[in-house]
Amino acid sequence: MRDADITVRVSATADPAAVRAARMGLLLRSLRDRGPRSRGRLAEETGLTRTVATGLIEELAELGLVTCEDADRRGAGRPGVQVRLVGSSVCGVGAEINVDHLAVVAVDLAGSVIAEFRRGIDGRSLPPEGVLAEVAGLVDDALAEARTAGTTVAGITIGVAGLVDTATQRVTLAPNLGWRDIDAAEDVRRRLAAGAAPVPPVRVANEATLAATAELDPADPDRADMVVLYGEVGLGGAIVSGGRVAPGRHGWAGEIGHLPVDPRGRLCGCGRTGCWETVVGLRALLEAATDPDDPVRDPVLTLEERLATLVERARLADGRTLAALAEVGTWLGTGAAVLVNTLNPGTVVLGGYYAVLGEWLRPAVEARLAADVLAPRAGGTQVAISAFGPTAAVRGGALVSLEPVLSDPTVLADLPELHGGTR
Ligand SMILES: [Zn+2]
Repeated sequence: MRDADITVRVSATADPAAVRAARMGLLLRSLRDRGPRSRGRLAEETGLTRTVATGLIEELAELGLVTCEDADRRGAGRPGVQVRLVGSSVCGVGAEINVDHLAVVAVDLAGSVIAEFRRGIDGRSLPPEGVLAEVAGLVDDALAEARTAGTTVAGITIGVAGLVDTATQRVTLAPNLGWRDIDAAEDVRRRLAAGAAPVPPVRVANEATLAATAELDPADPDRADMVVLYGEVGLGGAIVSGGRVAPGRHGWAGEIGHLPVDPRGRLCGCGRTGCWETVVGLRALLEAATDPDDPVRDPVLTLEERLATLVERARLADGRTLAALAEVGTWLGTGAAVLVNTLNPGTVVLGGYYAVLGEWLRPAVEARLAADVLAPRAGGTQVAISAFGPTAAVRGGALVSLEPVLSDPTVLADLPELHGGTR
């Protein structure tokens, strides 16, 4: 969001406390996105008077979110107070539940990773409670690390590969996990509450939606309208329009993995036939590239280990691996062309596992877009390889968990003290 948008919203709000909170959030966001600056410049750039900005910065300093330093003392030549974000004061926790792996990451306000845990699982043979117990265990480990680092946790957001009802916060349907109507957030919250430490707010969201949040880049106009293809066992997707992830009426937009692409094709985890993910999901790639007893299919492997083996085989020009990648890339491009013809995005992001294998998949995707998109030059759409790959969803979950603090930094005073009140 641009600073100007926030300024407009702030000026339209009548409640003085809400105005103050939103302005503090504006300053905090500005420091996070553009780095430390003098108090005067910060006031100028956020459209606040110097007096108002000074008061708000003092409040942010009292909350432990910024430090102020006299620039004269540092010999900078120009008088003025330098304001700097204290990124480590607060963090968000993101978790991801996938069919074959779990991941948890804690990211602080400056964007630095302060804790990270991953584990391979066999999500289809474990009951939902078993999977959620594992997730809660990993989240608890991340909370313990945050506690040790003296960092307040703003919230926990769990990404699930499936439909999440944004109003009820329940997982409506996760076909590849075999889940129906599961209250994942409440289950994890209850498990965490059984421990001694207080529990920050827990929410649940679609993992591809969270991945798209991590892929947003306000500085890149080609990412304001974008389609994120998030490759995992199946295929998750998210549509970004005007710089925001489009949730749809109930939060169920982006289920592109179930676009019917092959009426005579394979049975999908959702019960239909020929869904796009049956030919582009990791399961499809593994079936094409390996035999059932191939060690790369061992469920105890983490996703990273599995992908590292496939990358190694592709680099060694293993014929079967390259043929499987070409086939998946062509199917990926065939479906992507439907989306590009429909949405004319600036960028199609190859995320999740596609990013790790991007150098082999992208040429095939680009070739299909060139052939199948009606508009000239494939609609001007770029095919980008995600920098975060399979970690985008957990990272996005952590970033989303920090949003309440960025919207209103005063909420920090109400968050549970996880670290014995050192602030
Ligand atoms: Zn399906």
